[in-house]
Parts: sequence; structure tokens; C-alpha cells
Amino acid sequence: MMELFDSHTHLESSRYDGERAEVIARAQAAGVTRMLTCGSDVQTSEQSVALAQAHDGIYAAVGIHGHRACSVAQAHDEQGIDAIQCIADLAQQSGVVALGELGLDYHYELSTRQAQRMVLGHQLLLARDLDLPVILHNRESDDDMRTMLTQAPPVRGVLHCFLSDASMAGFALARGLYLGVAGPVTFGKMEQLAAILRQTPLDRLLIETDSPYLAPHPQRGKRNEPAFVVHVAHALAGLLDLPVEELARRTTENACRLLGVEVCAPSVGNP
Ligand SMILES: [Zn+2]
Repeated sequence: MMELFDSHTHLESSRYDGERAEVIARAQAAGVTRMLTCGSDVQTSEQSVALAQAHDGIYAAVGIHGHRACSVAQAHDEQGIDAIQCIADLAQQSGVVALGELGLDYHYELSTRQAQRMVLGHQLLLARDLDLPVILHNRESDDDMRTMLTQAPPVRGVLHCFLSDASMAGFALARGLYLGVAGPVTFGKMEQLAAILRQTPLDRLLIETDSPYLAPHPQRGKRNEPAFVVHVAHALAGLLDLPVEELARRTTENACRLLGVEVCAPSVGNP
């Protein structure tokens, strides 16, 4: 059976409360044997670590999302709680394979741009210190993301849910980063994205759901879940004119390589 790695989900989301075990079971039944669940702040990072420690095949990323950057800055000022230090401590726990999700979001701008840059900058240094890959969120913030990645020490990582232009893809690939492909690849009319993905080396592509957000066609509009990464795999395989089994194998290998997770022995009969 085809094995898939959902390289970006938020399994700790309250939208799965009461149904999380079933969501995980459905993913495994669909061949999604590995998942990376990403925190967005200290609390959700702790929950992600607990999930990783409780389940084979679930790995955790811990970090402060750009959306949450202001609350971190405030907590630091008002209560002396150093959220970045909490993330550094969590990152040492078993099951943690990356820092994330981190980044900049100038679309919603839920935190000031300055706070987002500060919190991202601290965590890029942390990634270097801990030698962990980073799961990067970047929305309508290409210029500042480029500047920050250029100024920071080199990091391994992925631009998750990549929807930027060809020049940003070129920048990321030149720095050794991966591109994460999510639900929008299934939406159709994504000509610019399709052209970029066709020119991206196959060993730099990951697939993901970003669940519970961003459900792929034909589940669009519903709550997303890791099992639906199958739709992303089929759409990307079609776009790249590859058998879906090969796309699954290659993207799983890529995720394992980036995250330092052991690739399962290929099943009998595979070349
Ligand atoms: Zn996410």
C-alpha cells in the first residue's frame, strides 16, 4: 500500500476534540503513516509534543507562529514569561523533529510586523543552535522573509503551503529549502503554482494538508484532516505526470530526510 507523509497538520486543534483518535485512525487507514503536527504557541506546542509521544508515526514541531508574536512579546514584558525559552525547552523533548510553525503573515497581520520579525528572528537562531529544521509560514511577506533568511544563519526547512512567485521559489531552492504543497494544488486555475512546481526538483517537494484548515478538492469547505493529503498527492502527481505511488514514495523520503526521521524499509517487491 502507498505510504504518505502529511508534513504539516495541527492535530492538537480544538476542532478535533472528541474525535482525534478517529481522525488519526482514518489517516492511517488512508496510508498516511506519518504526520508532522505543528504548534503555533507554547500551549499548542506542548499539545503537539504530547501527541507525538503518544503515537507512532506522529512527530512534533514546536514554535511561535507570526500570528501569536504579539502575545509573546506582551507576555515577555508583563509577566516575565519567556515563550522562546519554553519553546527551546520543549524542542529537547522526544518526538520533536522541527521548529514550527514560524513565520510572517502580512495578510491577516494579527501581530505587528515588527513583533513577527522579532519572534521569527529569535527562533531562526534557536534552529541553528539546536540544529533543527524550520517549518516556515510566509504569506504576503516575501521581501521580509527573504531578508530575514539571508541575514540569519543558514537553516534547513520548508516554506509550507507554498503560494509565492517563481522568484521566491528560486530563492528558497537556492538556499536548500523545500516547498510544501497543500490543498490549493487541487483547486484548479493555479497556473503560476503549477509552472513553479513542474520546475522544482522532485527531491525538494513535500505534501501536506495544513489541516484542519485548507481542505483540498473535493473536500473543500469542510474541516480538513490528514487523510485528505491523498487528494494533494493525486493532484501533484497529475501535474508532474508521475504515478501517484512514485510521488508518494519520493515525498515521503523527502520529509524523512528533512526531519531526520527514518525511512521505513521498502516493502517486498519494490525496487
Ligand atoms: Zn499551519
